[in-house]
Amino acid sequence: MSETQPTEEELKNMSPEELAELQKKNCVFCRIIKGEVPTHKVYEDSTMIGILDIYPSTKGHVILLPKEHAPIMPLIPPDVFKHLFSKIKYLAKGVKDALPSERSTIFIANGGVAGQQSPHFLVHVVPRNSDDGLTNFDVPKKGISQEDIFPTLKMNLTKMMQSHLQREGKIAIQTPSKDQLAEVLDQNQQLRDMIINNPDQVKAAMETNPQLKVLFNGIDIDKLSVKLKTGHSSELEQVSAEPAPTEGGEASPVDNKEEETKEESKKEEKPKQDKKEDHHSLLDKVTHMFSK
Ligand SMILES: [Zn+2]
Repeated sequence: MSETQPTEEELKNMSPEELAELQKKNCVFCRIIKGEVPTHKVYEDSTMIGILDIYPSTKGHVILLPKEHAPIMPLIPPDVFKHLFSKIKYLAKGVKDALPSERSTIFIANGGVAGQQSPHFLVHVVPRNSDDGLTNFDVPKKGISQEDIFPTLKMNLTKMMQSHLQREGKIAIQTPSKDQLAEVLDQNQQLRDMIINNPDQVKAAMETNPQLKVLFNGIDIDKLSVKLKTGHSSELEQVSAEPAPTEGGEASPVDNKEEETKEESKKEEKPKQDKKEDHHSLLDKVTHMFSK
């Protein structure tokens, strides 16, 4: 903790990996797990620990943490997740019997907006009694009709299905054309600035982010950075890492099965509107990635 913390400027130039490493280093729960900070441990195995919360809501309030640092639930490795959740019911029973208490509130805040205050994912087990004075977790009725969700679902369903099929390996992720890439860059100033000012950071981000990898497939980021500094992103023909395709200026799709490759060549004849669709979902994803 006594080590000097990076300046705002240094933070801005850090790769996602470096940021994750820094967060881990500053995580008080990781230090508790390593035994550097004293705590009252109530459970421990090779994957997780249970400790008394230092600011308990009721007597015996326990928090359960995976030993491996994960800031939010989606980043917990599946086997750790399975182990942690398979233990909750036994640990909740242990807490109930030890105190004793009537029941417990098992509480997870997944992300800051949901009320998560710790940098390390954790599960609260709060022993409950009818006279403990705690209010129950409020799920207020806001008068929203079920139909209100339909337009959003309708809009997102195609994208969700596409992501699902890509994850399952049922369809290949499409590499965008140079035109689509230029449009993404024109409309996403933050990404553009990052390529211009910090190409190494973009390259590092590509390693961990499949969507960025696809977006910049076959593109030499350093050449692109120089190109963007000096000119317009619509002149992207000269930045390919591999020889540019000779026809249509389209980047070759990767990992496509034979039929899909044939489909792709047929698509070139289609009106431009179709490509706009692909581009927009990609742009949405990219914008989302950089709008945290
Ligand atoms: Zn941690």
